[in-house]
Amino acid sequence: MTPRDWRKAGYRTIIRNNTAYLFRTQTDEVIAAPLVDGQWPTEGNVNAAPWQRWSRDELSANPALLEDFRATAATCYCDKQGTDLCDYCAGRQRSPWLD
Ligand SMILES: [Zn+2]
Repeated sequence: MTPRDWRKAGYRTIIRNNTAYLFRTQTDEVIAAPLVDGQWPTEGNVNAAPWQRWSRDELSANPALLEDFRATAATCYCDKQGTDLCDYCAGRQRSPWLD
């Protein structure tokens, strides 16, 4: 699935540190997979490899990343520009909500 497909399924699609993240703002659900040669992984089942759902321990161990995800979700414009990922989700720009 492409990032756009995932967004239609209700996830935010965010890339940080060569990792693809699926994020649900309502529940702080985080599902992660390494990029494949710099590209978004194609697997469309969140319960299959390479996707891995974060445990509560992982969530509480990464407060800065969660804060980044929430701010990025709040300022995301992926679906307005019609490309795969906006600058905030792609990590090219830092969300202004973080400053
Ligand atoms: Zn975005």
